[in-house]
Amino acid sequence: MGKKKTPKGIGVKKEENFSEWYSELVKKAELADLRYNVKGFVCYRPWAAITIKKMFDLFEECLERKGHLPIVMPSLIPESNFKKEAEHVEGFTPEVFWVTEAGESEKFEEKLALRPTSETAIYPMYSYWIRSYNDLPFKRYQAGQVWRYEGKSTRPFLRAREFHWIEAHNVFASKKEALNQVKEDMETTKEMLTDEFGLSFIFFERPQWDKFSGAESTYAADALMDSGRVIQLPSTHFIGQGFAKVFDVKFKDKDGKEKYGYITCYGPAISRIFGAMIAIHGDDQGLVLPFKISPLQVVVVPIVYDEKKKEILSKAEKIGEMLSYSYRVKVDERDDISPGEKFNIWEMKGVPFRIEIGPKDLENNQAVIVRRYDGKKFFVGVKELEGKLRKLSEAYTKELRELHQQRFENLIEKCHSIDEVKKAINRGKIACAGFCSIDHDGEKCAEVIEKETGGKVRGCRLDKEDISFDKCIVCGKKAHKTVYIAKDY
Ligand SMILES: [Zn+2]
Repeated sequence: MGKKKTPKGIGVKKEENFSEWYSELVKKAELADLRYNVKGFVCYRPWAAITIKKMFDLFEECLERKGHLPIVMPSLIPESNFKKEAEHVEGFTPEVFWVTEAGESEKFEEKLALRPTSETAIYPMYSYWIRSYNDLPFKRYQAGQVWRYEGKSTRPFLRAREFHWIEAHNVFASKKEALNQVKEDMETTKEMLTDEFGLSFIFFERPQWDKFSGAESTYAADALMDSGRVIQLPSTHFIGQGFAKVFDVKFKDKDGKEKYGYITCYGPAISRIFGAMIAIHGDDQGLVLPFKISPLQVVVVPIVYDEKKKEILSKAEKIGEMLSYSYRVKVDERDDISPGEKFNIWEMKGVPFRIEIGPKDLENNQAVIVRRYDGKKFFVGVKELEGKLRKLSEAYTKELRELHQQRFENLIEKCHSIDEVKKAINRGKIACAGFCSIDHDGEKCAEVIEKETGGKVRGCRLDKEDISFDKCIVCGKKAHKTVYIAKDY
């Protein structure tokens, strides 16, 4: 057998050139292949596909636990459906892929949109499925792909023309219940992103000019990257009754009267969350994956040369078997590559723990656990191995999140002038400033900020807000809001 080429970390430092670092990571960790010959469309390779599948499973399980049922909708939407809601059409039309013909150039009478989002496919069906107050709340979700013609340059997982997501669409009898659903969606986001994927984020109420097309209000989670840029992760929308009126989503209430439902929708883009996760947790050795969703959780590497080869291999197998009842484990027994090369490979793949066993360890009946995210080594007796690993693994994802949290606490900077905002953003910070209004009145001021600084007004923080200002940073009128300004991906 010939020597295989082993990746030895990423050639570019993450701190120095994020873009190149990210591309190299995607390639070396074998996450995606960009050689597919349709621009903006990429192939997901097994390591990414397995991780993403596990992320879907966790999300779907959580939604079902909270009363959502799955549906599967067609991916084609007739143009006439699509055009029914004016704001929606305006917002999405530039991004739609249209299917216009089939077979030997048989033109369709009506263009069909490859769904960029499914409101206009789902709500017409809800008008058949919802009859009375007994059917409410009506909570459904679907998991699948959507397609958007992204004009901006694409980046695998983070921004692509085809992405994988979940969309939940719920109908309620009252506005109050609908707004409670928005809160539940934010809680779900926390349970998934924070608790399972180790990501810290801030939920913002988006300004009116930046909300989902057709919604009354939009709430979006922005995760912060080390570069100071933010990336939008799940968003939840209070749609109100607009779409219900257009698509006739009505129910007969207790008083016998027909009423329009209040709709909410929630859209966690799983492939994008995956991209953010690898970008945020990854380091110069490669991927760092949260414990629960890593395709492999533990890799056992026997350190064998000539001495005691048989005994070491047999010990490694025993350890592997013992751990396989609780974890996804692999014993890497390949003999055509050195232990050091194996370390590099599994570090690149982000496997949370490596267990090494060599001649000395065999003698002392011990093993070495190496933790991926910080490289820390733990020497433990074979008998204590399982208990120690349990403790370390239970804390792993929480520790990743704390690391992320610490890094971005210092990223926020209070600013009192546009010039300060500009400087803060250029130093990779997120600016925080006084602002007149996030209703339509404030749009002009936001345009000035974007033009002068390159940063976007992300909106108002929904969690604790303890920073306040006297004046709007642009027009000098009374500041009713504190907004955050950042560049985004
Ligand atoms: Zn203003």
